[in-house]
Amino acid sequence: MKTIGLLGGMSWESTALYYRSLNEGVKESLGGLHSAQIAMYSVDFAPIEDMQHKADFDGLGQMMVDGARRVEAAGADFLLICTNTMHEYVPVMEPHLNIPILHIADATAEVIKERGIKKVGLLGTGFTMEREFYKGRLTDTHGIDVIIPDEAERKAVHDIIYQELCLGDIRDTSKAIYLNIIDNLAARGAEAVILGCTEITLLVGPADTEVPLLDTTAIHAQKAVERAVS
Ligand code: GLU
Repeated sequence: MKTIGLLGGMSWESTALYYRSLNEGVKESLGGLHSAQIAMYSVDFAPIEDMQHKADFDGLGQMMVDGARRVEAAGADFLLICTNTMHEYVPVMEPHLNIPILHIADATAEVIKERGIKKVGLLGTGFTMEREFYKGRLTDTHGIDVIIPDEAERKAVHDIIYQELCLGDIRDTSKAIYLNIIDNLAARGAEAVILGCTEITLLVGPADTEVPLLDTTAIHAQKAVERAVS
């Protein structure tokens, strides 16, 4: 079995979900007392959130390279970055690593294509919804049509992630806001909606909506299990 590397803590609320999913996935795949071989480095999220909102690209890039190298040094065979947003730094990280990164957008795109879905809605942080590193990869590399919520909706989605979900604060009022935004994306033609932030699955799940939801945390972990046991 390969050792799965995790660069986590962004936030730890979702990294905890990864840890459970990876172990459950390996147990399901290999049975008995089998569990995932994991090497993890988990960061303090507060200075990272500060750098994100100050657009300190150099500081964030250095932190991501440093964290990934620690995971590599701990024996990982490949790396998962346990956040959609920080995949913006993949191009900065790759030249410094000898192990591959299993990109969360590629993992999600595989599932989208397997299901024959052509047009998706994307929820995530403002960075993920508005910048090209994520949408662009889905569209240019995978040929998937991506739509995002309008400006006021994007602000609500972003603020709820940082002010509530990353703190483990799960509120019915915020769930209602998300469900309304998901409905609007479906009305605009989204055949499925990507939960493109690893904490959103704490708030909404498949039973809450008619339109299928693509839980990037679960998908990323599942693809990692497949690679680890292959
Ligand atoms: N975990 C989140 C994501 O998947 C947001 C927190 C972060 O900025 O890393 O994008």
